[in-house]
This record gives sequence, structure tokens and C-alpha cells, in this order.
Amino acid sequence: MIVIKSVADLEKTLRPSRNILKIGFVPTMGALHEGHLSLIRQSKLECDLTVCSIFINPKQFNQASDLNLYPKPVENDICMLAESGADVLFLPDVSEIYPDTYVEPNITLGYIETVFEGKQRPGHFKGVALVVKRLFDCVQPDRAYFGQKDYQQTLIIKSIVKAFNLGIGIKVCDIIREPNGLAMSSRNIRLKPEHREKAGFIFELLSNLENRVVELGIEAALNFVKIEIGKIPNAVLEYLEIVDEHSLEPIAIEKRRGVALIAVNYHGVRLLDNKLLNW
Ligand code: AMP
Repeated sequence: MIVIKSVADLEKTLRPSRNILKIGFVPTMGALHEGHLSLIRQSKLECDLTVCSIFINPKQFNQASDLNLYPKPVENDICMLAESGADVLFLPDVSEIYPDTYVEPNITLGYIETVFEGKQRPGHFKGVALVVKRLFDCVQPDRAYFGQKDYQQTLIIKSIVKAFNLGIGIKVCDIIREPNGLAMSSRNIRLKPEHREKAGFIFELLSNLENRVVELGIEAALNFVKIEIGKIPNAVLEYLEIVDEHSLEPIAIEKRRGVALIAVNYHGVRLLDNKLLNW
């Protein structure tokens, strides 16, 4: 695996392969786990060359404390990536991604950035959109791989590809979970082991939601889950809704499908999860 730190070196390395090899791209913020590695594996299955990036994007953190607390085990990440078979690791500094000459493109995200994570973390998706656009311009991949874990983010990314006509295939990959069902996340290490074990309740409640919607309807099914979470010590529900899987707008039961999006603050750690539902 080649580790590249500058945009110029990345361009030199990738240029000979463009239009000859299919380039797959997996952008990450590091602190890698099986979820990230599953994206690398998918890219390796479908592409000739897999580029992974590790870049903690300051523009998508609306709280300095969250940015400072974000884990940065770079040496370990490099070993994991090399073992996973990634071909190139792009590991730029902030000054490579946002040099003095950087001009922010005009990006309009509309309704999708105003709800759920966008509402909880104002400016977050604008920051995600800016960094992904910049990384796409640097790597110019044929395909890019993202986790369904960050469902709303996948919609934002698809909308950027469309708006800028980038011609990049966006692949959304399954959520990789811990044995108790908790969605893997770089933030999970902030939970004490006993709380991490108990945090499987989120997945358990999501898993029963389809049946509950059939039995009770959407509103009552959501209320049931809200009451259950209310009984769990140190769990504060930030949001739980079932919405249209493309627009994130409210839906009627007759639609018979949607996505459930949930965010729970558990012992001070924000845990996100989601599930596509058919009823
Ligand atoms: P992050 O490093 O958190 O920015 O995540 C980088 C990529 O990995 C994003 O596309 C995430 O959606 C994806 N990802 C994070 N956690 C998981 C998971 N548990 N399963 C699958 N993909 C994931």
C-alpha cells in the first residue's frame, strides 16, 4: 500500500491509471473498524484499484470538543488498511485539502440538510459536502463506497454527484454491527464496556419496528419505542422517525415503505442507526 500525503503526489500516482483501471474510493475519518474495512472489501471486489482516504474534516464538526475528542490512531489504521488490501492511502493535512487558494464551491443541499442530523448539527452536511466534493476532485474515482450507517449522508453525497454531474457511481453498503447489534462506529470506544454491551437495545427496537407498524400504525409504533427508550437509564432520544427513504419527508402508512432514522444519546455518546422498512 502506498501512503500519499499531497494532492500533487496523488495525481502523479493515479494519472496513469485513469481511464484504464476502474478506481474505487473509500473516504474515512480514520479510527477504522470492520465497517470501514467492509467498504474496502466491496471496492476491491468491484474495482481494479482501491484508494482510501483518512482525513478528519474540521468543516463538518460544529463543536470543537467533538473534533478534539475524535480518536486518531493513525499507525493502527495504516496497518489495518495495508492488511485489508487497499492500494493507496491518501492521508492529507488540512492545508492540502483547504489550501489558502481554496475557493468553496456553491453547494445547495435543500431540505435534506435541515432535518435529523442536519438539525442537530447545523452546518455539518455543508462541511461533509465540501470535503467529499474536494476529495472526489482529487481522486476522480469511478466508484465511491459509503456506509448505510450514515443514511442521511448517503443522500447528501448522491445529490452532490448529481448537482455537479460528477459521473461517479455511489455504492451504499450494509451496516456492520457488533455482536449485540450495535452499529459499529469510531465513537463506540467512548462507551464503557458494560454500556457498549447494553447499547444493543437500539438495534433490537429497530428490528421490531416493522411488525409494530403493521400492528399499531406509524405514530403508535414510534411512541412505543419512545416509551421503551424513556425507561433506559442514561438514554436520551434525540430523534426517531419513519420517513420517505429518498426525500426524508414524512410519509403515510399507505406508502408501505420508508426508512427509520434514530439518534440516541447514551451515557453522553451519540449513537446513530437506521433501518429500511417494508410493511
Ligand atoms: P467515518 O470514518 O465515520 O466518516 O466513516 C467512513 C465511512 O464508513 C462512511 O461511509 C460511513 O458510513 C462508513 N461506516 C461507518 N460505520 C459503518 C458501519 N458500522 N458499517 C458500514 N459502514 C460504516
